[in-house]
Amino acid sequence: MTDTATRADHILIIEDEENIASFARMYLEAEGFRVSVADRGDVGLDVARSEHPTLVVVDLMLPGVDGFEITRQLRTSSRIPIIMLTARDDPIDKVVGLEMGADDYITKPFNPRELIARIRAVLRRSDPSLQDPTGPDDTVLELGAMRIALGGREVEVNDEAVALTPKEFDLLVLLVENRGIVMTREQLLERVWGYTFLGDSRTIDVHIRQLRRKLGDACQIETVWGTGYKVVAPR
Ligand code: CA
Repeated sequence: MTDTATRADHILIIEDEENIASFARMYLEAEGFRVSVADRGDVGLDVARSEHPTLVVVDLMLPGVDGFEITRQLRTSSRIPIIMLTARDDPIDKVVGLEMGADDYITKPFNPRELIARIRAVLRRSDPSLQDPTGPDDTVLELGAMRIALGGREVEVNDEAVALTPKEFDLLVLLVENRGIVMTREQLLERVWGYTFLGDSRTIDVHIRQLRRKLGDACQIETVWGTGYKVVAPR
């Protein structure tokens, strides 16, 4: 067994275009991932629920159930990392996909290196034990009625758990750690996503909107026009 195969992350690819699915499978297996492919949305959803893969790569347009619906359904019960495949030049898809809870998206046709880099980045962000080599972080951030457990990556408002995607969580932590300070969209993109999204700052706006919706009055995220966002301490 090679080094890359010792941590056999299981990637589920839900994609009806056979050439894309088999191409992605070939590259991912060469990198040591275990790969399952489903060529229908409904089948993919069943496999995701029964086999608990480490990460799901889901195409948007699928027979059976589409990628949006798969993402929405998986998000009701799990924080499993999801990367959505979208058609080229279709920015609406990206925004809606991220709103539905996908962690990242890739535009087809994609370079296999990019797919692997995105998968590794999403897995890194979603695995707290890989983020801190000294072990789980037991730090808890408190802000008004909100508590954020960094190690467990859990957020509670008035003792009720709030389900956030891995990126929403990272974004919230960064803003709360820097409360009172304006964070620019570029800083947020670079520190949460690990690379700049070719200036696609709407990605940030979509995630901020989701955080506001999920956290309500418990977290005041102010828009600083033309610059970015800041969290203000509750009065
Ligand atoms: Ca398709």
